[in-house]
Amino acid sequence: MEKRDYYEVLGVSKNADATEIKKAYRKLALKYHPDKNPGDKEAEEKFKEAAEAYDVLSNDDKRRRYDQFGHAGMGGAGQGGFGGGMSMDDIFSHFGDIFGGFGGFSGFGGGGRTARRVNRGTNLRVKVKLDLQEVAAGVEKKIKVKKYVACQHCNGTGAKDGKSFSTCSTCHGSGQVTRVQNTILGAMQTTSTCPTCEGEGKIINEKCTFCNGEGVLMAEEVITINIPAGVAEGMQLSLSGKGNAARRGGVNGDLIVLVEEEEHPDLVRDGNDLLYNVFIGYPEAVLGDTVEIPTIEGKVKVKIEPGTQPGKILRLRRKGLPDVNGYGKGDLLAKVNVWIPKNLSKDAKKLVEKMKDTEGFKPGNNDKKSIFSKMKDFFD
Ligand SMILES: [Zn+2]
Ligand SMILES: [Zn+2]
Repeated sequence: MEKRDYYEVLGVSKNADATEIKKAYRKLALKYHPDKNPGDKEAEEKFKEAAEAYDVLSNDDKRRRYDQFGHAGMGGAGQGGFGGGMSMDDIFSHFGDIFGGFGGFSGFGGGGRTARRVNRGTNLRVKVKLDLQEVAAGVEKKIKVKKYVACQHCNGTGAKDGKSFSTCSTCHGSGQVTRVQNTILGAMQTTSTCPTCEGEGKIINEKCTFCNGEGVLMAEEVITINIPAGVAEGMQLSLSGKGNAARRGGVNGDLIVLVEEEEHPDLVRDGNDLLYNVFIGYPEAVLGDTVEIPTIEGKVKVKIEPGTQPGKILRLRRKGLPDVNGYGKGDLLAKVNVWIPKNLSKDAKKLVEKMKDTEGFKPGNNDKKSIFSKMKDFFD
């Protein structure tokens, strides 16, 4: 079925504000509500269509996307409950506030939409600073965090000794109350959050004195975080359930770990590769030498060939960092820099003067070419 324009569905203009959209939707939802039109498939379709239109137009992000891309911007069939249409349960659970304004509609067909309210703890954010060794090998970090934990005196229930509570007599533990109301639209079954227990399904008789009935206490906890090899500055790891505990025995929040990198004294990171500057003297460049290059596993000796040009890149394979997704390892690239002295003694100056006229100290054409190709390496 071709989808109708959402604005057309709700009968509002393109620049309708939130209040108009809400009003229009409420009107349609009442008109086509299943309780008012039992067994009427067409009304049910219209009810769903209006709910879908409202879902998009009442959300700034979705509305912007819809305005820009139309239905194509809302994801294809099977995504996020669209395309295939929203289920009745979706509609009732999403738009409780709309129906709530009317005292709340009943669940449709008794479908399992009612649930006791579950508290959720907030997420906790921490930063972890790693040096290159730790990045290279992966590391287990123990960090101390201050966070809400379940009160051990009441097992997180908020009730004295964890026992001093009873099932709410108003809602019998379901957290919701249902009643039949006579409205202008006829008799309607309405469901709303139980006012006695605020949806929790139970009543605390005597509060736990340690947490004042909240079920949580602020405490310091040491959390062990396993950081995989190859992570980089700015990456985030999420540890599910390691954040703040929720009030009265809900679901814990997550712990979000933000990775920071410490600078290495010699090595600079470039993705999975490491970069290093080698400095040699002029005689060493001419005659060749052996230099020490720092790597993560310690120093290695590398041979400088006689006649090495400045800018030459020495590639130490697999001496870089491991890929965080396990795709191999980077290299260490050491760039040769030749130190040209400024202040020479008289004797040294004489020696260099002599070199000027010595065969082999003027670049030949072939050498020039090789220098330029090395410069390309240098600038890459
Ligand atoms: Zn209750
Ligand atoms: Zn307590």
